[in-house]
Amino acid sequence: MGTLNSKVPEGPLKDKWTTYKDKINLVNPANKRLIDVIIVGTGLAGGSAAATLAELGYNVKAFCFQDSPRRAHSIAAQGGINAAKNYQGDGDSTYRLFYDTVKGGDYRSRESNVYRLAEVSTNIIDQCVAQGVPFARDYGGLLDNRSFGGVLVSRTFYAKGQTGQQLLLGAYSAMNRQIGRGKIKMYNRHEMLDVVIVDGKARGIIARNLVTGEIERHSAHAVVLGTGGYGNAFYLSTYAMGSNVTAVWKAHKRGAFFANPCFTQIHPTCIPVSGDHQSKLTLMSESLRNDGRIWVPKNMEDVLAIREGKLKPTEIAEENRDYYLERRYPAFGNLVPRDVASRAAKERCDAGYGVNKTGEAVYLDFAAAIERYGKEQAHVKGLDENDKALVDKLGKEIIKAKYGNLFQMYEKIVDQNPYETPMMIFPAVHYTMGGIWVDYNLMTTVPGLYAIGEANFSDHGANRLGASALMQGLADGYFVLPYTIGDYLADDIRTGPIPTDSKEFDEAEKEVTSNLDKLINNNGKYSVDYFHKKLGKIMWNKCGMARNAKDLKEAITEIAELRAEFWKDVKIPGKADEYNEELAKAGRVADFLELGELFAKDALQREESAGGHFRDEHQTETGEALRRPEFQYVSAWEYKGEPKDAVLHKEELEYENIEVKERSYK
Ligand SMILES: Cc1cc2nc3c(=O)[nH]c(=O)nc-3n(C[C@H](O)[C@H](O)[C@H](O)COP(=O)(O)OP(=O)(O)OC[C@H]3O[C@@H](n4cnc5c(N)ncnc54)[C@H](O)[C@@H]3O)c2cc1C
Repeated sequence: MGTLNSKVPEGPLKDKWTTYKDKINLVNPANKRLIDVIIVGTGLAGGSAAATLAELGYNVKAFCFQDSPRRAHSIAAQGGINAAKNYQGDGDSTYRLFYDTVKGGDYRSRESNVYRLAEVSTNIIDQCVAQGVPFARDYGGLLDNRSFGGVLVSRTFYAKGQTGQQLLLGAYSAMNRQIGRGKIKMYNRHEMLDVVIVDGKARGIIARNLVTGEIERHSAHAVVLGTGGYGNAFYLSTYAMGSNVTAVWKAHKRGAFFANPCFTQIHPTCIPVSGDHQSKLTLMSESLRNDGRIWVPKNMEDVLAIREGKLKPTEIAEENRDYYLERRYPAFGNLVPRDVASRAAKERCDAGYGVNKTGEAVYLDFAAAIERYGKEQAHVKGLDENDKALVDKLGKEIIKAKYGNLFQMYEKIVDQNPYETPMMIFPAVHYTMGGIWVDYNLMTTVPGLYAIGEANFSDHGANRLGASALMQGLADGYFVLPYTIGDYLADDIRTGPIPTDSKEFDEAEKEVTSNLDKLINNNGKYSVDYFHKKLGKIMWNKCGMARNAKDLKEAITEIAELRAEFWKDVKIPGKADEYNEELAKAGRVADFLELGELFAKDALQREESAGGHFRDEHQTETGEALRRPEFQYVSAWEYKGEPKDAVLHKEELEYENIEVKERSYK
């Protein structure tokens, strides 16, 4: 069992990474051919790591549960990816990106890792451009940028509203080159169900072939998890339906500490829930807050008239609208960080000003931007700036070019035209800052087991700024892990292939099989979704946007009871040795039911508010999150049999290069 040593190198912040890289062990090209690495997950983090390690010469075995790496959840990323290139000349720098990220995370992330992230951010853009990723360009042909929440510069690179898809195609082509060379062996439609530890080191995995149901053993000298986030514990979220916690939860059970499980991001601009029949929520990218203004009516009569369908939002005069973000946060306005914007929406809706039937929606309005862009275009073209119809047409063309696919998606789902009437939005679960604890090398507390991308807890503290998940996933995969893993693998050049006929593989396989048998033979009364929905309701109501000790204690009890009910009463049709989606889902929900309890336990012990974790008991007079210095640590949980028995370890956070102060966006 490892201890909590973050292994941050000595020396000044600015030199740490460079000096460290100069001194760590290397594996020579011939020896890399003798080393196998398993990478579970081929989204942006795992895909970029697989391509890079294979290019370096390691033998990579890559796994994903979809039918192709191209379908990883990363494909959904819309708005963009940050990098401190300062192409806009607006004052950006490595330090500012570092500073914004630490402050954005409410001073709950590790300085050294965040600085390294900011440092390598610029390399990512060069790498992706070289791969042919079609980033948006300005009229002069240079790469364009837009702004995201919590910052005062424009540093977000984007490809329309499809940045994740384009970046993933880049990583996927890089992977395919290596698949073609035989350096990556790709296992699609395989789900990792356990990590195998031999002599204290991660040496392989047990996977289930989802098409045939066959259980397989795979060995390697190191195992990397790039398996994404666990927000689907809430049932309704913006995640892909398949995203789950199983890989990291199994790693946790084998000794990897789980860090800050309660740090979840609730994104302010999603399409509101429409009813109980729903299984998925849709994000409207944060990029829309560059041009959209958020508001609710000032007067309760208008709210009621809107709900009754007697008044349209476009009929409400400017002076009767409450642009509450601009009112409360004049410096950052509509581009405050996500946790701040989500809470502000909740505050208005709780006060009764929500604009849809359930009272859980606010407006995101583009009318002002359409007019502004339209006038500018008319001016540029030498046309009449006072011609309202012309200005409207020209303005909409610009908005369409910037956000067309998002507007189309909104119209398809809501059946309202957002060019003509404001969008309705509400916060929804979107990202998990918590994850497997890793040290500076991205290694977990299990030697030889690494976690990258959203699967690790790393760089975002208590709140992730927009467009920085893609940056972190690709930083980990392209530029950090390829160095740090070599330092560890240098000791394995004489080890030779790891056999899979050992007692450790026997034991892990037996456990996986008996778990599957238990599920398939249970023959209870209720579907997997029945339990998942119930878990989601507990999580949203008691561990959601605002939390308090009473609710969290209830959640702990209720989740434990629900878990017991699940194991007694879940019914899974079909067999284990065939394609069986319901069985795969049951395993994932079983793990969510354990994680959910640890999540609530973590939130209960963190008696402060920080970023996305808001405790009712700890807020300022104006309702802002109130941090407490005694909680300036990462909570890292050690598994001890049941979530209730998990043991807390703390990584104290030190800030030597940033002054920890009130997190103001005013
Ligand atoms: C709608 C939406 C829009 C977003 N927009 C942005 C944005 O504009 N900018 C930004 O920075 N971030 C954005 N994000 C966040 C960002 O997309 C994700 O955080 C990021 O893509 C996660 O990448 P990943 O590689 O860590 O994981 P994922 O892309 O989730 O990949 C996980 C991989 O692990 C595999 N896997 C998981 N479990 C197993 C298992 N047990 N066995 C085998 N394989 C397994 C999956 O098959 C998959 O290949 C957005 C998120 C959403 C939901």
